[in-house]
Amino acid sequence: MKTKLLAVATIFLRIIGFSQVDYYGPESFGEILDNSFSQTWTPSAVASIDNKKYVVILDQATKSNVIALNSSAIETIDVISLTDITRGTYGSMMRSIFQLVDENTHQENDAGGGSGTYTPLSGLYKANPIMHSYFSLNSTSSFGLNSTDGGTFYVSSATNTGYLLLEFTGTASSTAIKAVEQWTYNTTSGANEENTAWTDKYLMLNGSTLSWTTAIGSATNFYLADATDLLDMEIAAGSEFNPLSVAYQPNATAEIPSGIKSMEDSKIINLSTDLDESYHDQLGNSITATTAAMTVVDAIETTLISEGASLRYPKEFYLAVRENMLSHTIQSSDIYNGIVGKNTIEHVYFTNASDDAGVPHPFMVIAAHAVSTRPNLLVDVNRPPGAEMGVGYAQSSVTRNGKLGDFIIKIPLKDYGLTSTLLDNDLSPYGDLASEYDAKHNSTTTKSVYNYVALASIGVAVDGVTIYPAQNNNLRFAVEDAEVTSSGIHVGGGLELHYHSDGHAYNGNGINLYNIADFTGKNHPPAIGMAYDGIALFGKYESSFASMLGYGTALDEFGGHDHDGFGYHYHAHTQSVTSSVSPNPVFDEHILLVGAWKGNINNIPAFDYSKSNQLKEDDAISRYAGVSYATLGVKELLNNDNTALIYPSPTKDKITIEVLTPFDITITNSQGAIVRSFKASAGANTISLEGCSNGIYFIEGVANNNRFIKKMIVKK
Ligand SMILES: [Zn+2]
Ligand SMILES: [Zn+2]
Repeated sequence: MKTKLLAVATIFLRIIGFSQVDYYGPESFGEILDNSFSQTWTPSAVASIDNKKYVVILDQATKSNVIALNSSAIETIDVISLTDITRGTYGSMMRSIFQLVDENTHQENDAGGGSGTYTPLSGLYKANPIMHSYFSLNSTSSFGLNSTDGGTFYVSSATNTGYLLLEFTGTASSTAIKAVEQWTYNTTSGANEENTAWTDKYLMLNGSTLSWTTAIGSATNFYLADATDLLDMEIAAGSEFNPLSVAYQPNATAEIPSGIKSMEDSKIINLSTDLDESYHDQLGNSITATTAAMTVVDAIETTLISEGASLRYPKEFYLAVRENMLSHTIQSSDIYNGIVGKNTIEHVYFTNASDDAGVPHPFMVIAAHAVSTRPNLLVDVNRPPGAEMGVGYAQSSVTRNGKLGDFIIKIPLKDYGLTSTLLDNDLSPYGDLASEYDAKHNSTTTKSVYNYVALASIGVAVDGVTIYPAQNNNLRFAVEDAEVTSSGIHVGGGLELHYHSDGHAYNGNGINLYNIADFTGKNHPPAIGMAYDGIALFGKYESSFASMLGYGTALDEFGGHDHDGFGYHYHAHTQSVTSSVSPNPVFDEHILLVGAWKGNINNIPAFDYSKSNQLKEDDAISRYAGVSYATLGVKELLNNDNTALIYPSPTKDKITIEVLTPFDITITNSQGAIVRSFKASAGANTISLEGCSNGIYFIEGVANNNRFIKKMIVKK
């Protein structure tokens, strides 16, 4: 009742002048690529030609012809003009950036580690388009310049594969580009093999044609401009994403695990075989699905109101988040088994299952591949997580590749309330970072919003990538270990991407999860994710948009606040923190989610399930993800009904029905067949259930002016 009054009060407050916060999510990376990009840029050469450098390759003579990927064909290389970059689109700018990656980058091992073989860098480079990091510059059979698949999951079915190894003879201001080896994927051996017929060739620009020539005299001199002046992607030592100046770890890259499936065969695409038919209409990304989702959300709202409960946020908010989530498509071949053009989130649907007592627990269910839409730059991470092989970090291989995940994430729609103190949420069924750390190190850590947090993901971003706490399992901010990219992302031992930090707050380069361009014309930062406690996450407040609603309303230690009648919600934000590691620098920590949940999770059913395997669990769990289960149908009679006591349930062989006045009792099975029929007298009536098989039964009692329906489970 209290909740209903609050809902009415909220509506009333809106009428008397509170503004409604704008419901919207950030532009997808696919949309950003088509946005205009304008920057005054005079190319300046990279200081030295080194591993991992980002370069724009121009002709040295005019510095106006640029080597770039074609706007639609990944394998096609064009020559574009400098103004196509500086007065073009984000897409034309990014398609002109290549990363030089030494052939041994993924084979190095720590020389000081003792056990590994150290493979030093060779000085021979692949030139990988930043947009498609698994691709490299190569030569067509007629010695034109192209770009080919160097080792994605799909390489075995590609026509052109492999890469060239390049040597740069000269300085970045004037260099010939010499291809000394060509490697091609061999479908029989399943590996790239050297083409022994290849002889040294030089890249030549003739008009707008690029080709490989054996004549050294025809080689064109190129200019390798520093691309980070165009797009800030680097993490400098001592910066907020590497405050302790952790050095680049030359650990070998962890192998991609075997048994990986293609994107089309991923578990989360074809969900309809697992889900109750009533949810099928909501699957996929279509007008029909949106209409079906709206209908279900309406029904959920009605059910909750009749229960004296409520949605945490207005239904229009959830629908706006759903629409945004379905707008993100992969734009970059940067995930081993991802496919360009495909959605990162396949389905967002709403379920309205009830528990065995008839209490409704509706969810927004997000079926996500957990991959970002843009280049992840994983090779740049200074100290990526180890591949969890049970050896010390020095001997460990590290995670520099990403693969698709199969998440079925449930966000509770019902308002389960807020906790009043940190420890109100019982994390004992799931474990927490502080306790895990203490068990390992025999220590006693004071619980905080940073460490009294679940061991895995705690929320999901609108692009489908999960969000982890700001701190890692060493109880340090992930950036203190220099383990995230400039977008605040990395992969753990399972090679699945997740965010630890807010990349937009770090570099504002315009290609992050959300960007400053999203704020224009809006009255509140964009919705950028949902935490598993049901609380919405918004972007950080920007000082250049100080008139936004809630700008002056302080965030609490969980990173949340409430204003304008919207309800409690989190914001990404920046905190000044002091590193616990010598020399204890003070730095700005850019937080997406601190870690601890403010929303009360204690009464959320099937809480600790975020993967597709929950669909195969008992229906006490799987029903909330949308799997069929036996329902009562006449729910209003079941709930809050005190006219009869039924016990025990589940039961083996008998049931007691306690009533105050006589009732005619009918017990039916889940198919509707009557299995018992009798008159219950006032008091306790115990009935044998001999012959009743395992399953759900309904006990209906009818008297003159009274009727009840209760559920009973037989489990022998
Ligand atoms: Zn992590
Ligand atoms: Zn706010």
